[in-house]
Parts: sequence; C-alpha cells; structure tokens
Amino acid sequence: MSELMGLDIFQSTSRYTYMVTRVEELLYKGRSRYQDIVVARLTDFGLALILDGLIQSTEYDEYFYHESLVHPAMVTHPNPRSVLIIGGGEGATLREVLRYRTVESAVMVDIDEKVIKIAKKFLKPMHQGSFDDPRARVTIMDGRLFLEKSSDTYDVIVLDLTDPYGPEISKRLYTEDFYRLVHQHLSDDGIMVTQAGNSYFYGDVYDWVLQNVKKVFGIVAEYNVWVPSFSYTCNFIIGSRRYDPRVLSAEEVDKRLRERGVSGLRFYSGRAHVALMNTPIFRKVLKGF
Ligand code: SAM
Repeated sequence: MSELMGLDIFQSTSRYTYMVTRVEELLYKGRSRYQDIVVARLTDFGLALILDGLIQSTEYDEYFYHESLVHPAMVTHPNPRSVLIIGGGEGATLREVLRYRTVESAVMVDIDEKVIKIAKKFLKPMHQGSFDDPRARVTIMDGRLFLEKSSDTYDVIVLDLTDPYGPEISKRLYTEDFYRLVHQHLSDDGIMVTQAGNSYFYGDVYDWVLQNVKKVFGIVAEYNVWVPSFSYTCNFIIGSRRYDPRVLSAEEVDKRLRERGVSGLRFYSGRAHVALMNTPIFRKVLKGF
C-alpha cells in the first residue's frame, strides 16, 4: 500500500517497512474495474506506474526489472518465434521481447484495458511504441481464461503480473493449476518465466510460488535483481521443459544476443546472465544455518 501524502509517497516494502520518496507531479489518479491506478513523476525515479498503491515500474530503473524478466528465458530458448506475455500493462516487457528478430508474433494479454490506455498516454519512455509493432497483438482478458479458451502453443511465456501478495486479480496466476495450464501451452522445448515478488520480505509467499513451479517443471531456475524503486530485490522463477539457463556461458549468451539482433540493452549481457544465475536469493535467514 502507499499513500500520496503532501509531496511524498509512502510505498510499503512489506507490512512493517516503508520507503518514503518525493513526488514531483501527480499526472493521473483514478480507478479501473480492477485496481487503483496512479501515474506520478517521482524525483528519484522519474515517471512511475502505481497500482493499488504498489510501484509497478519507474522510468529510471525499469530496465533492471524488464531486461531481467525477459532475456534469460528468451536467450535460453534456441529459437524463440512465438511469445505470450500475460500482464505487462506498461508495454515494456513487450518492448524487450520485440528486440529479437526471431520473434514472429508476440501476444500480450492484460486484464485491465485502462492500464494500457494510461500507459499509452503517459508512459512512452516505457513502451517506446511497442504496441504499434506489426508483430504485436494485445488482448484484454484474464490471462487464465485466455489460456483455458485457447489451444495455441508458444516458445516462451512471460508472466509479468502484479505481485502474488498484491491485488486479488493476479493471485490465481501463481498456483500449481495455473502453471500446469502454462506448461500445456508451451512447445516441447518451451520455457516460462514469472516475476515472483520478493523472497526477503514475503518469503512464505515466494516459497509457495516456487514450489508450485517445481511441481510442474523439471527444470527450475531462481534469480533476483535489485530494483531501487521497489527498495528490494525482485525475484524471478524460470520453469523450462528442456533447456537450462544456468548452463549458458557469458560468451554463448552474447553470441545469441548478437545472432538474434538484440541491441540497446542497458543491464543484461552474457556476464549479467551468469551473475544472475549465480547470485544467492535474498532471505531473512539462510536455510541450513
Ligand atoms: N512489475 C510489476 C510488479 O512489480 O508487480 C508487474 C507489472 S505489470 C503493470 C502488471 C500487470 O498485470 C497489470 O497491468 C495488471 O493489469 C496485469 N494483471 C493482473 N492480473 C492479471 C490477470 N489475471 N490477467 C492478465 N493480466 C493481469
């Protein structure tokens, strides 16, 4: 939860810890059928999208989050041509997926049309026109319903949802049942990735998500990256049917990025990939001690 109080925003990091940061300008405040939506300009972070009081992404540091979410899975797949994104209202996840010239179609399914409208209007630095790419198709629907109703399969599925401890609308998309549905919609060598909130402040919820992925996928990789505007590391979990992201060398990752025409990255690289796969997951108490 956060409150806009005077010129500051109180962003809750956990139920007991807050970050207080300065608001320069409130650009939009409203409510959709599903959630409270705020767009503000923050002194330390630039433009910010805030849903139900939780910062989703900000202009100055979104690339840590979006590049870390998208590229490890995209690089691990040998030839990602069809990609499904569930969530990702800002259009920045779509932007990262479309960097690959191998991608022929990128379908983005978000439940909230209003978030996309607001993003198109206020968050250009984030989507950078990705919604207009001819390979992109946007569908407004609950992500779970979308998969239940379709028989299409994808090489990569990216789950860019609100946190598992956030709004109700995304909770059912972190369950074992849902990951089974995702598995069914992946090609034989398909790979999925989900953002998973934070393992330090919400360890129980994180473990629940991790176990759910492990019940469904034979290959599971966890990694986390520091996101300043979240004031914590954001965790990600990959579930893969055939290929393991942890065995790729920095040289191999860089080679794949080059071959696939991926340029303009600010955080992710071969070295960053190896670092992500080898950085311990942040925990309040390390297991086994
Ligand atoms: N970076 C983010 C964070 O920190 O939580 C996630 C960003 S993205 C804005 C989250 C998107 O997930 C929102 O646009 C929201 O509308 C969408 N969403 C939530 N539940 C959904 C569902 N059941 N189906 C499809 N989209 C959903």
